[in-house]
Amino acid sequence: MKYEIGVIGAGIVGAAVAYRLRTVLPEATLLVLEKESEPAAHQSGRNSGVIHSGIYYKPGSLKALLCSRGRELLYEFAAREGIPHERCGKLILAVELSELPRLHALYERGIQNGIPGIRLLSPAEIPQYEPEARGVGAIHVPVTGIIDYRAVVQRLLQKSQADIRYNALVERLISTESGYEIHASGSIYRASYCIFCTGLQADRLARLDGLHPPLRIVPFRGDYYELRPEARWKVRHLIYPLPHPTYPVLGVHLTRMIDGGVEAGPNAVFAWAREIYTRHGFSIRDTIEALSFSGTWRFFFRHWREGLEEYRRAFSRRAFWRSVQRLVPSLEMEDLVPARSGIRALALTKGGSFWDDFYFVAKERSLHVLNAPSPAATAALALAEVIVQKALQTWKLSSSVPIAGS
Ligand SMILES: Cc1cc2nc3c(=O)[nH]c(=O)nc-3n(C[C@H](O)[C@H](O)[C@H](O)COP(=O)(O)OP(=O)(O)OC[C@H]3O[C@@H](n4cnc5c(N)ncnc54)[C@H](O)[C@@H]3O)c2cc1C
Repeated sequence: MKYEIGVIGAGIVGAAVAYRLRTVLPEATLLVLEKESEPAAHQSGRNSGVIHSGIYYKPGSLKALLCSRGRELLYEFAAREGIPHERCGKLILAVELSELPRLHALYERGIQNGIPGIRLLSPAEIPQYEPEARGVGAIHVPVTGIIDYRAVVQRLLQKSQADIRYNALVERLISTESGYEIHASGSIYRASYCIFCTGLQADRLARLDGLHPPLRIVPFRGDYYELRPEARWKVRHLIYPLPHPTYPVLGVHLTRMIDGGVEAGPNAVFAWAREIYTRHGFSIRDTIEALSFSGTWRFFFRHWREGLEEYRRAFSRRAFWRSVQRLVPSLEMEDLVPARSGIRALALTKGGSFWDDFYFVAKERSLHVLNAPSPAATAALALAEVIVQKALQTWKLSSSVPIAGS
C-alpha cells in the first residue's frame, strides 16, 4: 500500500502533525513510523511536564506566538479528552537584589507577549502563593500548568487514525518521482509525502533526505531529583529562578508533577550520547559527530563558565541542592532523591550559537522539523498547524481535494 503522507517520529510534534493532518485532510491515508516500541520515548516523555505560559520568548518570535496559542489549544484538548492536567500557576523568583532589573525586564516581556494575569509580587506577597519560598521579588504567572505529556501524545496518535508502526527505524530514503520509498527496520513503506519530526535525530534524517542542514544537533542531558514524600509540602506549585541571561536553559526549578510528586531539575550538561539516559552513557558515533563540529567547540568556549557549573551540579548533590535551596530555604539535602534524566536536542550553528526558535525546511515532497526545543511540547498543537500549512503550501496541495500522485 502507498500512503499519502508519512510522518516520521512519534514524539509530541509528530503526533500533533498527524492529528492536524487528519483534521485538514480527513480522507488521507496517514502512516506514522517510530523507531522505539512506544510513543514519546525521548524528549516528549522525559520532559518537565510543564505547560509554559510564553513569558520568556522574544516578542514576535515563532516561540512566543506558538507557545501562547499552543498553550490554550492544549488546555482545550486536555479538557475535552479527559487528560490529567492543572492550570496551577508558577512563581519566578528574584533571590538577590541584583536580579531585580532582570525580573522587571522579564515582566515587561511578559506584558509584550500578552501573557494573561501576570503580576509582580513584593517579598511579603510571595508566601501567599508559596509559603516556603523566599525572594526579593517575584512574578506570578497564573496560566502556567502541568500535564501528562505521554498521555497527550497517545491520544493525539489515536485521534489521527494513522497507521502506526513501532520498532521502525528509518534508515534509508529513496526519493522517486511520485514520493518516497522508506526503508525502516527491514520493511519498505511508500508515501507520496513525508514530514520528519525526529527530535534528537533531526539533522541526520535531513541529511538522509539530501539536505545540508546548517544546524547540528548536540545533546544536553538534564538530571532530575525528586523530593521525598515527607518534603513535598514545601512546594505547592511551580517555583522557577530567573532564567540564565545567555545559557539556553530556564534554570533548575521545582515542579509539582501531575501524579502528585515534586521534582527538582533539570540541569544541562553536554551528553556523550543522544539517547542514553545514564550519567555515564556514551556513544562513539554521537560523540564524534558532536566534537567534530566546530560549533560545539565555539559553544563550549563561549559558555565554559556555565558548562563547568552545570557539570559540578551533575555530579554533586550538594551543589544541586544549593541551587534549589536558594528558592526554598527549608529544603534539606536529604529531601532530594536522585531520579530520572532527559536529553535536550540543542541545535547549534557553525558559529557556536544555539538556534533559538523553531525551524523547519520544506522541499518538493518533504518537510523537516529541524529544531523544536522547549516549549515545543506546550506549543505542539499550534506548531503542527504551521508545519502542516507550510507543507501543503510547498507541495501545492489543497486541504479540500484528494492528494495527487498517491
Ligand atoms: C529535560 C527536558 C525538559 C523539558 N521540559 C519541557 C516542558 O516542561 N514543557 C515544554 O513545553 N517543553 C519541554 N521540553 C521540550 C519538549 O519536551 C521538546 O521540545 C519536545 O518534546 C520535542 O518533541 P519532538 O516530537 O520534536 O521530539 P521527541 O519527543 O524527541 O520525538 C522524536 C521521535 O522521533 C523518533 N525518531 C528519531 N529518529 C527516527 C528514525 N530514524 N526513525 C523512526 N523514528 C525516529 C524518536 O524515537 C522519537 O520518538 C523539555 C525537554 C527536555 C529534554
